[in-house]
Amino acid sequence: MINRRCSKAISYGNVTIGGTAPVVVQSMAKTDTRDIKATVLQIKELEEAGCELIRVAVPDMSAAEAIRDIKTDIGIPLIADIHFDYRLALAAIESGADGLRLNPGNIGSHQKVTQVVKAAKVRQIPIRIGVNAGSMPPDIDPSLPLPDRMTAAVMREIELLEKLDFDLIKISLKAFDVPDTIEAYRKIAGMTHYPLHLGITEAGVPPAGIIRSTAGLAPLLYEGIGDTIRISLTAPPLEEVKTAYEILKSLNLRKRGPVLISCPTCGRTEVNLMQIAQAIEKRLNSVDKCIKVAVMGCAVNGPGEARNADVGIACGKEKAVLFKRGEKVKVIQEKDIIEELMAEIDRFPK
Ligand code: SF4
Repeated sequence: MINRRCSKAISYGNVTIGGTAPVVVQSMAKTDTRDIKATVLQIKELEEAGCELIRVAVPDMSAAEAIRDIKTDIGIPLIADIHFDYRLALAAIESGADGLRLNPGNIGSHQKVTQVVKAAKVRQIPIRIGVNAGSMPPDIDPSLPLPDRMTAAVMREIELLEKLDFDLIKISLKAFDVPDTIEAYRKIAGMTHYPLHLGITEAGVPPAGIIRSTAGLAPLLYEGIGDTIRISLTAPPLEEVKTAYEILKSLNLRKRGPVLISCPTCGRTEVNLMQIAQAIEKRLNSVDKCIKVAVMGCAVNGPGEARNADVGIACGKEKAVLFKRGEKVKVIQEKDIIEELMAEIDRFPK
């Protein structure tokens, strides 16, 4: 059982981050925000896959204005990603953005920051302060270890917002280096009560990017740190959402869709288990049930795992025993394994 850190609850539209809310999965659209049709299409696909919050880049005024039209066609809250230009933040708020990602420190004068914060406060929309190891403020002591520099930068940004009596804050401190990221989040978790957005920045191309993200996020989530996650991959954003859920499911923090248990195979395997497991995994992509499925290669560990799953098979020579909720259902021939197992999964209640 994971004891989650006690954090302040904030809301993006109808999605709560922090407090007792589950860890929320988010992603970022990779389309040109000004291309409304393409952006809506991508967001809807992500929504379908379980994405609960979406961020879009706002590089100019047309992108800020496009948010209005995008919002009318999507069902999840939208966060506007702003850098440097306070007018884009104001325009994004005006267009109905449910949150902002910006650092007050790079917005410019106190007067500009005040205007943005005032507008966010009127609409009650949160601001994510996102410190990134690649763009640290130059005046923070470079001799300090990176996690200390990152937390110092975040605390400075928090102070700017709190001085303006604004506390709908979410924090992220992302780095490519996994130990630095873990250390930075651990530190900040003990320094503030604001909800934390976890991520390993520029994690790379799958599978390396997935592994790096998992190596960074899993220890933190297991310690109860983290209220929302985004997996940053050089890949279509659907991969990010799927990976996020796999991490959360592995830690029993979220449930979504099936979980597949399959053995690695060995010299005892007497069926083509790799092919069977891969086919089942593919077919499970379209199954909308929180069901545990086991595909096991022999009579050593097979029956135990298959019995513990909701539906499972333990294979023998050219055949397999099918189990459902711990009970043996029947013996099936190797050629029928995939169809028989899928039929049992279809019959399994939601
Ligand atoms: S379940 Fe059986 S076949 Fe699969 S790895 Fe274990 S011993 Fe080998």
